[in-house]
Amino acid sequence: MDKRDVIARAREEGVKFIRLQFTDLLGVMKNVAITVDQLEKALDGELMFDGSSIYGFTRIEESDMYLRPDPDTFVVFPWRPRDGGVARLMCDIYNPDGTPFEGCPRLTLKRALAKAAELGYTMHVGPELEFFLFCLDEDEKPTLKTHDQAGYFDLSPVDLGEQARRDIVLTLEEMGFEIEASHHEVAPGQHEIDFKYSDALDTADKIMTFKFVVRTIAQQHGLHATFMPKPVFGINGSGMHTNQSLFKGNSNAFYDENGPMQLSKEAYYYIGGLLKHARALAAITNPTVNSYKRLVPGYEAPVYLAWSGRNRSPLIRIPAKRGQSTRVELRNPDPSCNPYLALAACLTAGLDGINNQIEPPPACDRNIYQMTDAELKELGIGSLPASLQEAFAELAKDEVVRGALGDHIYEKLTEAKQTEWNSFRMQVHQWEIDRYLTMF
Ligand code: GLN
Ligand code: MG
Ligand code: MG
Ligand code: MG
Repeated sequence: MDKRDVIARAREEGVKFIRLQFTDLLGVMKNVAITVDQLEKALDGELMFDGSSIYGFTRIEESDMYLRPDPDTFVVFPWRPRDGGVARLMCDIYNPDGTPFEGCPRLTLKRALAKAAELGYTMHVGPELEFFLFCLDEDEKPTLKTHDQAGYFDLSPVDLGEQARRDIVLTLEEMGFEIEASHHEVAPGQHEIDFKYSDALDTADKIMTFKFVVRTIAQQHGLHATFMPKPVFGINGSGMHTNQSLFKGNSNAFYDENGPMQLSKEAYYYIGGLLKHARALAAITNPTVNSYKRLVPGYEAPVYLAWSGRNRSPLIRIPAKRGQSTRVELRNPDPSCNPYLALAACLTAGLDGINNQIEPPPACDRNIYQMTDAELKELGIGSLPASLQEAFAELAKDEVVRGALGDHIYEKLTEAKQTEWNSFRMQVHQWEIDRYLTMF
């Protein structure tokens, strides 16, 4: 699509408002609405917005930023009226002098993709997003109550959650998503919807759109959808398994018919790179205090730095499909991450593996959760950071992953996350009361 196509389609579909969307550093979608009369100006990148109230967006002297919409991301919201409809465009952010803004997550991913392209690679990504649907109380506030008691792949009598999920899938399809699977997840009220892999930028845009659509449609069903990684103690949390592969031209560079496990050298080095940088990557793929409540043994979430062709307990699994579908499934990312930054960081770590021929350790096909500390130590199996603070300490030491973010984003993110951590650290939690109030 180019500028002309967008304008023509907006006219054909009776669009009245266009939302110009972008994602802030913390992975939250922002938007400004314009009327269709402003569309041409917007597409020429002439619209300014005041970035000063968006975290990490401006240097103090300059608060006016330019939005540059990507015409390929034009889509009409199917739940809005046909007449006077609403569409959106995803935008990149530019400085007042026309240079790319170093704090724009979408441009950061584009930069990482350009580095891969210099080596002849394009990155393909297929995410598996999990989320909870919770009931609202009388005041329409979200609760932690779920309406169902179903489990993995259950087919319960159609309840509110199933209906909402069905509607979400239909809406996403109307917006151009190809949905490959949708099912109830292990925990009550937990769901997963998988859409077809695409190039990394398109996938990151789709992840942002997905979260927004899921919340919107859930709301229409009187439910609250959350992508918070671990909303309830004692049951599974929500992950965003990230299936990644590199393509050279039209062929999958991770596939080698004659390689061990039919994987290419590049696939092994990519795994080596992800494992080497995994502890620092966690700061980006698992960026909230709550993320680390999910990464504990017993809930199908990864804890240990290992990979396997079979087993689901390690950080990286190689799904059975080969040929064009050969891929590496990274299992620690969660849906609270900023997908642009997460994919940029993963790709950069994987490419570091390829560029420096980093051999991964041997595959680990045993259940790691059942190993003793001594066994883990003997096999040299480390673990993911146990807290947001630990993850950021790792990121501080990892120049490769920091390089993927650039100085501006690294510094702003560190500042924001330090504040987040301190605010959590100073709270007195219920657990402490239960444990200590009567003990001392
Ligand atoms: N919910 C699990 C996680 O936190 C994954 C469960 C699954 O997809 N098998 O990653
Ligand atoms: Mg899945
Ligand atoms: Mg799942
Ligand atoms: Mg999976």
